[in-house]
Amino acid sequence: MAHVSLYRRFRPQTFDGMVRQEHVVRILKNQIASGAIGHAYLFCGPRGTGKTTVARIFARAVNCEHPKDGSPCGECPACRALAGGTLDVTEIDAASNNGVNEMRDLREKVQYPPVTGKYKVFIIDEVHMLTDSAFNALLKTLEEPPAHAIFILATTEPQKLPATILSRCMRLDFKLIPEEDLENHLKRVLGEIGKPYEEEAVAAIARAGAGSDRDMLSIAEMCIAYSDKLTYEGVTAVLGAADFHETCALVSCLLSSDSGGALERTEKILSEGKAVGILVRNLLELLNQVLIAKTCVNAEKLLALPKELFSEIRTLSDGADRQAILRATEILAKAEYELRSTASPRILLEAAIMRISCPAQDYEIDALMQRVETLEREIQALRSGMPLRTAIPEATPSAAPVSPVVPVPPVVPAPEKEARGKAEPEPEEPSYLEEEPIFEEAYFSDPDPIPAAPKKRKMPAAEPVSEPTPFPAVASAPAPVAKAPAAQQADFGDAQRTFGRFMRTLRKTSRSGVLFTMCSDLEAKFEGETLVLLSDSETVVRSLKREEHRKIMEQVFAEIGISSFEVRAAGGQPQGGGIEALKRDFKDYTIDIK
Ligand SMILES: [Zn+2]
Repeated sequence: MAHVSLYRRFRPQTFDGMVRQEHVVRILKNQIASGAIGHAYLFCGPRGTGKTTVARIFARAVNCEHPKDGSPCGECPACRALAGGTLDVTEIDAASNNGVNEMRDLREKVQYPPVTGKYKVFIIDEVHMLTDSAFNALLKTLEEPPAHAIFILATTEPQKLPATILSRCMRLDFKLIPEEDLENHLKRVLGEIGKPYEEEAVAAIARAGAGSDRDMLSIAEMCIAYSDKLTYEGVTAVLGAADFHETCALVSCLLSSDSGGALERTEKILSEGKAVGILVRNLLELLNQVLIAKTCVNAEKLLALPKELFSEIRTLSDGADRQAILRATEILAKAEYELRSTASPRILLEAAIMRISCPAQDYEIDALMQRVETLEREIQALRSGMPLRTAIPEATPSAAPVSPVVPVPPVVPAPEKEARGKAEPEPEEPSYLEEEPIFEEAYFSDPDPIPAAPKKRKMPAAEPVSEPTPFPAVASAPAPVAKAPAAQQADFGDAQRTFGRFMRTLRKTSRSGVLFTMCSDLEAKFEGETLVLLSDSETVVRSLKREEHRKIMEQVFAEIGISSFEVRAAGGQPQGGGIEALKRDFKDYTIDIK
């Protein structure tokens, strides 16, 4: 028998089988019962929450001759015909069929009456991926649909849809599924396939599913294949909990204001191939757990972690102020948001790390609060004659050389005209790259000063930072100093700069907002003469390779003098969230999904 994935095998066939989303289901059932069915629906919500499943059930239910409580009966001729696949239900993946031609085809198909049932249903998945002209073509269809047509548009990013489309659809929002429901669903599935399990293992898988039933079941599938009984140990082996300890070590540095250590750990984790976005998410999750451990009496039960992991979290929470945890969370959450629109995710992350681990340099109220709390603790300790547990950042040897640089971008108010002059010429000159903040001329209009300090790894070195010497120093003693890291930095900076120019030109010349948005998530690097653009999303890569996008990109690159470029998925594998992300992050494990 062919292998069928758990998700497909246990995909609900009726509304009652859905995991949550009862608010959506109720509306649709009522519409079916009353016969007041709309012509266009918009299903919004995170991936894996059941949008397509509900769309399919709805498509069968509207055609069913005797719907049972709003769900398809599964027995009437219409139900049977639809179960076997039919022309009456069309599913389109807009991620790969996003052009105007596909939408024109659709417009023609819509005109023909249904073959078996009453309605023809068109499900357009990932509808936000359509091009502008495709949206226009779709809009014409939505404006005057034949009576037998129903459109269900599904998307994870409704904000990318034109208002004209939004206003013609009935919008239903799908929600992330609570962990408890995921757990219960997983237990049901495991019961049905007869797989013994540990409670903790189920809890861990549900947590890894992060609100998505599909993701959870895919993860469960890997774990099931790992051993005869579903154990917590097996789950952590599959999910790569080894880096739990590394993330803990990084959080420990962050919360104890050890900025040098924090940067080193970050460097190590990233060099093992973890994507910046995923590291940020892991940090946020862990901080959240630390906060729970700090705040809640029954934290151990709430977190449902095995003893050793929980004790690690307990240690972190004992050694940290609540204020520090909250502040770190806020800074990282902001960074996570900003990551979506930066071409230099790593710089953004490192800046956030520096801000968190150097509260002494941050005059935000949270940072000041954290310093006051530290001082209070010191005073307490001094009064009671105990040795100081954590010193004030400036006083610790590791933090001292580091702190002055952080929030101030390296462009110190340079008094000498000479220095200014040297910073200005065309950025092609490699000798300046090292000193110049890469984001000096960001392509986003918002002049947000990201404290990009490309020199930070060398910070503990001799030079006292307040001296305004950096530019002349490099200019007079040209490139060969510190060759290896400098060359890397230069390459990186060069690619970023070129890409920045590309983005600015693109914004000026192209009217495709979709293209611009997709491009803003790319990372750039040079491989020889070729500028390689990397994306975490396979969908984005596919879309950028389509002719209409490729042509525009070619033109823009030609304009800025780049003749060779390539769009690629980061890591060279099909990318995406969930499973793809797992595969990407845990290369050492063989993950095999059918
Ligand atoms: Zn039926």
